[in-house]
Order: sequence, then structure tokens, then C-alpha cells
Amino acid sequence: MRRVSILGSTGSIGQNTIDLIARAPNDYEVVALTGGLNIQKLADDACRLGAELAVTAHEDRLDDLRAALAGSGVEAAAGVRAIAEAAARPADWVMSAIVGAAGLAPGLEALKQGATLALANKETLVCAGSLVLRTAKAHGAQLLPVDSEHSAVFQALVGEDIGAVERVIITASGGAFRDWPLEELANATVEQASSHPNWDMGQRITIDSASMFNKALEVIETHEYFAVSPEQIEVLVHPESIVHAMVGFRDGAMMAHMGEPDMRHAIGYALHWPERRELPVKQLDLAKLGQLNFKAPDLTRYPALKLAWDVMDRGGLAGAVFNAAKERALDHFIARRIGFLDMADAVAAVLDRFDAADSLIDAPMTLDNVQQTDHLARQWVDDTVVERAG
Ligand code: NAD
Ligand code: MG
Repeated sequence: MRRVSILGSTGSIGQNTIDLIARAPNDYEVVALTGGLNIQKLADDACRLGAELAVTAHEDRLDDLRAALAGSGVEAAAGVRAIAEAAARPADWVMSAIVGAAGLAPGLEALKQGATLALANKETLVCAGSLVLRTAKAHGAQLLPVDSEHSAVFQALVGEDIGAVERVIITASGGAFRDWPLEELANATVEQASSHPNWDMGQRITIDSASMFNKALEVIETHEYFAVSPEQIEVLVHPESIVHAMVGFRDGAMMAHMGEPDMRHAIGYALHWPERRELPVKQLDLAKLGQLNFKAPDLTRYPALKLAWDVMDRGGLAGAVFNAAKERALDHFIARRIGFLDMADAVAAVLDRFDAADSLIDAPMTLDNVQQTDHLARQWVDDTVVERAG
């Protein structure tokens, strides 16, 4: 029996992970599930899977969680610290599927106990790449990518030497506004940005796909995880979302990873790695698809994408600044305080402000420094938004 925990179990990735685990109940012992406000779903899943522990991020919902778990034998806990403690409970495999920078500290706890960390939470590597890789190494813990593009690159590199890689191409569907007239983008609404043409995901990543902030995070994630230089990373718009990534080698060969857009593939690969097992994922029918299309991204349509290279050039804590500023700008967009294109403007302004903060630029990458930087960057976004409103 493998002991598994799922951080962010009530979300889109969390539910897909539960779907795979629930199909083979004799193979897994569920240690901890964590969620947010959806107490009923968290409690139902914890009971159904016989988890040891269920944790909500919200301390004021502890009584509700206790009530929902009454008589089940599942322990209840609440709050940020309780989530980190859940991640530290001995387990063989931990899914990191919390959304946002909140996933970083629990992910580090899972690595410190030596568990294999299946990383859907891309923010972890964007905010603190070197700290995370250092922690994994120090504790002999395995870090496996779950983002579909990174799982694809990882699979294309099996048996290869990273030194033979010429470039890495990650694909992007182009999001909700791929075919919109440019001049209408500024007026795009939250509802319009929240529907994805190919993938069924949480609301925040879906909006980030429309703006390509998601792809910008993934470019940085590629740089951190695979240690390829910024110049070696490319993004291609691929509306069908069938080819998830390609690795080009020095000899001119290119390995493409293809599959139906279904996150259970990447989750299942990380769950069974280094084996490949059968998964409840549709096989590709290329004859039926007929054709696959690719084109270079138009940076006037996706100003957020270009920022990824600005962040990688800066290095250090710039990733933490970028992610926090992006998260806060997204909060303001969802609250309808700023427009769709204002998000990239606000984040670019915050990166400029970071350049003037000498003490931050040279600060070592510790969890404390990352969290303080995160806090400051959110404040800077608020300043920018207030300035514009006034
Ligand atoms: P989601 O919004 O559907 O779920 C997020 C989960 O995190 C929920 O369980 C929620 O309760 C929990 N959560 C939210 N805020 C929290 C906080 N402050 N503290 C603790 N828990 C909190 O998100 P998702 O789409 O499942 O994405 C999860 C992560 O996986 C994100 O980092 C996303 O970028 C990444 N990812 C998602 C997909 C996808 O297909 N959904 C694909 C690739 C990568
Ligand atoms: Mg992805």
C-alpha cells in the first residue's frame, strides 16, 4: 500500500487525482486531504477514501468540518499551519494541487519528509525554484512535474542527456481570446475569460490561460525544472492542445509528446512513475483529427508572455515578485476593479519597482524572504491600482 496525500483535493487537479486513486482502493492508503471553503466535498472525499486527516485552509470553518466528519474517525484540522503539518505527515507520494503561492510552504514540508512530490502547483518553482530543488536534493526527495507541458518534456527526456537538448517548446492553446479582435481585448469580462476552449480547469488558471500569464509561469517553470536557458525555451500556439511539448535535440530530431487534453494522463504518469500503467484516458485518433496547427504567439495579444523572459533575466526573487503581482492583479480583475489588459501593465510596473529595491535583488532565497517579497509585491499592485483609480 502506498501512502498518499492530496493538497488541494477539492480543486480540479485534486478531483482528477482522487478519480485515479479511487479506482484502485487496495493500492493506496490516503493520509491527508486538504481544501478550502468546500467543506462538504472535502469531508465526503475524506470519508469515502478513509483518510486519516482532512484540513480546511479556513480556521473559522473548523467546526463545520468537524460536524461534517462526525462519527467517521477522520481527524479534522484547519488553518495554514495545519495544512503544512498535513504535508509533513509521513507519506510516499504527495500531490501539490493548491492554487497559488500558498502551495509553496506545504510543498517544501512534503519534500523535507522525503516524499515524492507530484507538482501541479507551478507557482512553487516560479517563486522559489532554487530553494525547492535544493530542499528536494538535501532530503533525497523526488520532484515530478504534473503540469501537462512539463510532464511531456519530462517524458521526452527519458534516457536523454540534457546536454543534447537544443530547445524546448511548450504549446499553448491560445485561451479564450485566441480569435478575438485585438481592440476588444481591453473590454473582456471575467465571465468571458473564465471559459477555456480545450481544458476543464479551475477559474484562476483558466483566466491565466486567456492572458497567457499561465504560459509565462510555465516558461519560468521549464527554466527552473529542466535547467535550460531562457533562450532555449519557445512557446507555440497550438489550438488543438494535442501536442503538449516538444524537445529539439542537437542532431535535428524533435520529440513531440501527444495526447488528449486530459490531466489524468500527467497525474497518472506522476503517480505510477517510473512505470507506465493503463489510465482512463482516451486514445488519440489522429486520422479523425485530420490536422494539427501551430503558430508563433502574437505578443501584442499576449503582453504577459514576454514578461517571463524579463523575470528569468532578473533571476533571484523576481519570480516571487512576478507570481505575487500576477495573483494580486488577477484578484483585482476578478473583483472588476481593473480590466483584462491592465493585469499585464500592473505586473510590468511592479517588476520595474523591484529593480529599484536593491535589498531585495541580492537577498538570498529563503522561505522567509520569498514570503516577504510576495507580500510586498501584492502591496505594490494595490498601490498601482489605487493610483490609476485616483
Ligand atoms: P482549483 O482552483 O480548482 O483548486 C485549488 C485547490 O486549492 C482547492 O482545493 C482549494 O480549496 C485549494 N486552495 C485554494 N486556495 C488555497 C489556500 N490559500 N490555501 C490552501 N488551499 C487553497 O485549481 P486547479 O485548477 O486544480 O489548479 C491547482 C494547481 O495546479 C494550480 O497551481 C494550477 O496552476 C495547477 N495546474 C492546474 C491544471 C488544471 O488542469 N486544472 C493544469 C496544470 C497545472
Ligand atoms: Mg500547463
